[in-house]
Amino acid sequence: MTGRDAWDDSPREACGVFGVIGRDLPVAQLTFLGLYALQHRGQESAGMGVSDGEQITVVKNMGLVSTVFDDRTLAPLVGHLAIGHTRYSTTGSSTWRNAQPVYRSVGDCQVALGHNGNLVNTEKLAADMGMLPGMVTSDTDLMAEMIEAELLLLDSDVDCDLSTDDRLDSALAHVLTRLEGAFSLVLMDATRIIGVRDPNGLRPLCIGEMPDDGGWVLASETTALDIVGAQFVREVEPGEMVVISLSGIRSLRPFAPERINPSLCVFEFVYFARPDSQLYGQSVHHARVRQGELLAEQAPLPADTAFPDAETMVMGVPESGVPAAEGFARASGIPFGQGLVKNRYIGRTFIAPSQAARALGVRMKFNPLKDNIAGRRIVIVDDSVVRGTTQKQLAKMLREAGAVEVHLRLTSPPVRWPCFYGMDFGDTDQLLAANLSVDQIREYLGVDTLAYIDLDRLLRSTETDPSSFCTACFTGDYPVEVPVDLGKGVLEAGGNLTIERGSASAADAVLDEASLLPADEARRDDDGPRAGDT
Ligand code: SF4
Repeated sequence: MTGRDAWDDSPREACGVFGVIGRDLPVAQLTFLGLYALQHRGQESAGMGVSDGEQITVVKNMGLVSTVFDDRTLAPLVGHLAIGHTRYSTTGSSTWRNAQPVYRSVGDCQVALGHNGNLVNTEKLAADMGMLPGMVTSDTDLMAEMIEAELLLLDSDVDCDLSTDDRLDSALAHVLTRLEGAFSLVLMDATRIIGVRDPNGLRPLCIGEMPDDGGWVLASETTALDIVGAQFVREVEPGEMVVISLSGIRSLRPFAPERINPSLCVFEFVYFARPDSQLYGQSVHHARVRQGELLAEQAPLPADTAFPDAETMVMGVPESGVPAAEGFARASGIPFGQGLVKNRYIGRTFIAPSQAARALGVRMKFNPLKDNIAGRRIVIVDDSVVRGTTQKQLAKMLREAGAVEVHLRLTSPPVRWPCFYGMDFGDTDQLLAANLSVDQIREYLGVDTLAYIDLDRLLRSTETDPSSFCTACFTGDYPVEVPVDLGKGVLEAGGNLTIERGSASAADAVLDEASLLPADEARRDDDGPRAGDT
């Protein structure tokens, strides 16, 4: 069970992480607030570890942050440092065992760990550790095992005279350099919090400072700093490890310089990150507005129409499509309007896998504003199409509400390649654009015109060096080598091949492996069972 509703094919992120240390801070309550601000990055489980300088206590459970924690559960979590985690699973299934932080102790060294991202060499690492399938069930669990093994080695060395802190730093240095893929980590021992970002910086992680030298904060996104009242200091750099104690912050560089290659996931700017966050010093909201402006320039509404007297309106699919729709409207001169009301209170629901039920699912989330739609040519702006389930239903609903034309504009290029770094669209057979031309997709979705933003324009919208992004799901050019068969259950099942970085022939192998559309989509459109969605 992935936790994905059958009708909801929006992209999913892999987790949010948070850490805080400060002499007089209510760290458990601040961690709760930080995780609450990062809830959009994962809704399957939440947890935190708190230390009073002597002992780490970990509390975690399945569910939303507000479900797992309340005043009663937070009250006993007293200390001056904490880390927290909210999870969406990409490696390892959605179970309590895989909730984070994970905890290990060896002698007098305790460590808790939270991870955002996805390793791509889990199976090899597990084999190197001599582990049988099932001994660890997530890449984070594997990391914790590796750290424990290194600590045990140091513990058994009678000549080792390292302090407890230095033992953990040494163990981490040995483990981190063997990891490949995406990992933004927060760790803690009894007295320090530690932040680590992989050499590509695929997932974000930033540092904040509490007012009046009151302490330090680590968070996946700057929004979480705002919410707890911390001032943004800087991002943890790709390949950097920051160690923060009550006496200050220390920066270490455990990775070889040749591995450092900044490649932030560009989808953070399209969909994942909150609009009130900043990445690479740029406003995510502003980038999304720019994406709409650039789309209007690239793909304006066609002049040819069978309805020359009809009014035209630009609308966004809430939430991430709305800023881009505003930008599209501003640049095109077409009025912006609300066309869909989103139910803010919809949680996870179980929807039976039939076409009728999926239509109902989309309608539960979005209801068209008929008065604004009837008789109009509608330009609808959305962030991406993965399987197309939602957009197909939306186009149908808009026509039923009286739209005379529906024109879809997307703020990401076609997603043609799987993501192995933490975004949950790992199977090529689920990617509409991997198998159909843009015109075939237009026809399948039932829209009059369809345009995806060019990659160049998307990168331009970030106002950042275009070479500092991962764009692999659009280009097949993976910044870190990836295995073909990497899936959520890799540690339970096993078996993989390797794609060479940027290799077209190897990338073709992915397509050969997959069952292709449109036959699969046609099967999904019948009322029969639908494998792999829930
Ligand atoms: Fe982001 Fe796509 Fe790269 Fe995955 S493959 S990290 S979704 S840009």
